[in-house]
Amino acid sequence: MIHIKSSAQIDQMKQAGTLSKEALRLAGSMAKPGVTTKEIDAAVESFIRLHGATPTFKGYGGFPGSICSSINEQIVHGIPSPNVVLSDGDIISVDTGATFGGWVGDNAWTFYVGNPTDAVKGLCEVTRDCLKAGIEQAVPGNHLGDVGNAIQTLAEDNGYGVVRGYVGHGVGKAMHEDPNVPNYGKKGRGVKLQAGMVIAIEPMITLGDYDCHTLSNGWTVVTDDGLQAAHYENTVAITDDGPIILTQDEESPWCPMQGGE
Ligand code: MG
Repeated sequence: MIHIKSSAQIDQMKQAGTLSKEALRLAGSMAKPGVTTKEIDAAVESFIRLHGATPTFKGYGGFPGSICSSINEQIVHGIPSPNVVLSDGDIISVDTGATFGGWVGDNAWTFYVGNPTDAVKGLCEVTRDCLKAGIEQAVPGNHLGDVGNAIQTLAEDNGYGVVRGYVGHGVGKAMHEDPNVPNYGKKGRGVKLQAGMVIAIEPMITLGDYDCHTLSNGWTVVTDDGLQAAHYENTVAITDDGPIILTQDEESPWCPMQGGE
């Protein structure tokens, strides 16, 4: 069942989204060689709690972290650890969620650690463009297939893989609501979008094939071919005035962090 939000509720969700975005920005500022993913996790958890919110991921299905931190060939759901030390040339995809006033904000960004290869930077740039292209399709009267098709077309035109096994989702009082929001699809197909829907659009794009599997820790999803993956996510409200990014910093036009760093 898809929960339609009123404009007042969307305003409330914006508060959760803003906190989630600020937490993500904090994580990005820490993504430097020598830092552990546990240090980033601890800082983000403190930040979220300091602002009267709850880290949405902590304990979700038993997940141990407040962030997901996924390095290089890890696509999503990496577990923060004191044993994972960032190195120059890595990319780290950080996913943060904050629950505030009963509402969830969910977003993710892939950050450069030092200086990744041009090939990896290209993957990240195109994945950011995929997110933007998907958001632009999130308007009343369009279908979810329009969102997914825009993402898939751009990624595949650049020779990248589009992860099939993990998708975006509705967001509200729960982190994962209906509908599922695939990063692939056919124009005009799938759920018809209407004002008041709030969805997390989150392309997961790979440098090689999109096949993936979960590590023995039960969480971390990695590419089968060991090549890098990028992941960018915003929580987006569909309104008659166009898509509103609820996880957006005010000073940026559509995305908070244009660069990878
Ligand atoms: Mg999500």
